[in-house]
Amino acid sequence: DILQRQASPALKPRGQDRKVYSAEEVAIAIENGELINYYQPKVSMRSSDVVGVEALVRWQHPRDGLVFPDQFIATAEQYGLIDDLTRRVLLNALRQCRGWHANKLRLSVAVNISMSNLVSLDFPDFIVEAAKRLEFDLSLLILEVTESQLMRNPLTALDILTRLRLKNITLSIDDFGTGHSSLTQLRDIPFNELKVDSGFVHNASDNASRRAILEASLDLARRLGMKSVAEGVENLADWHFLSSLACCDVAQGYFIAKPMPASALPSWIQEWQVRRTG
Ligand code: C2E
Ligand code: CA
Ligand code: CA
Ligand code: CA
Repeated sequence: DILQRQASPALKPRGQDRKVYSAEEVAIAIENGELINYYQPKVSMRSSDVVGVEALVRWQHPRDGLVFPDQFIATAEQYGLIDDLTRRVLLNALRQCRGWHANKLRLSVAVNISMSNLVSLDFPDFIVEAAKRLEFDLSLLILEVTESQLMRNPLTALDILTRLRLKNITLSIDDFGTGHSSLTQLRDIPFNELKVDSGFVHNASDNASRRAILEASLDLARRLGMKSVAEGVENLADWHFLSSLACCDVAQGYFIAKPMPASALPSWIQEWQVRRTG
């Protein structure tokens, strides 16, 4: 026991000492409005214009500071809290993005949902109602969908996704290339955007298999008439390589910007515009 206790700090991989929160703590955080959205910019590969942002949830914990989604999303999914969480993230995203639209920044906003979100048939109506109230143009909303082990009713999920698509919402298949049924999902679900996972984007130029999967994914998107987004563009080499492929529509990653609070976005966009023209 003593030996183990002494040995463990040095042996522990980075990040493994992260605190795990109980379902009750997560529920209270959602209830108290402690979840906030960070936003990561997405830029056009052709023009380098900022075309949109992805909303990434953070927990502003009263004692622990900023807590990342991998410390509470799984718990929220497991304990039936994900629907509530997603709706709040969505409302915040629509409201904040609407504010940018009012200031002449025409940005799309992407919100993450997992298949286990897609259980209540009133989800599309919830979004439509919110958009109406906020006068938000739904063609600027993207839902990034990831697979879930917890999906109980695939037919209901498909029904909901189809309804969302009919409302002119963009459906994006997130983390494409990971998971087990990506191709089946592409066949069955009316996705119109494909987001290549960062694992095939970062360092693709000097790794033959990453490169092959990246190129094949972009080609697949093009052939299916889908928009393509590459995530995990981490450095100049990633950016240059992606540019050289000339078939990727949008890029996202630390090379462009890290996720930031809503209040930081307008000035970041100004700086980005100066940097790329001057
Ligand atoms: P994701 O949807 O794949 O989001 C991308 C993650 O990669 C984000 O981590 C982002 O900060 C990080 N990232 C961005 N650029 C780079 C880069 O250049 N290199 C590397 N290595 N990483 C980069 P984050 O914010 O910690 O989110 C992790 C995951 O948590 C997300 O992965 C998503 O699956 C989930 N998540 C985040 N927000 C929500 C939410 O509101 N609802 C749900 N259901 N899941 C969410
Ligand atoms: Ca995502
Ligand atoms: Ca992703
Ligand atoms: Ca991911």
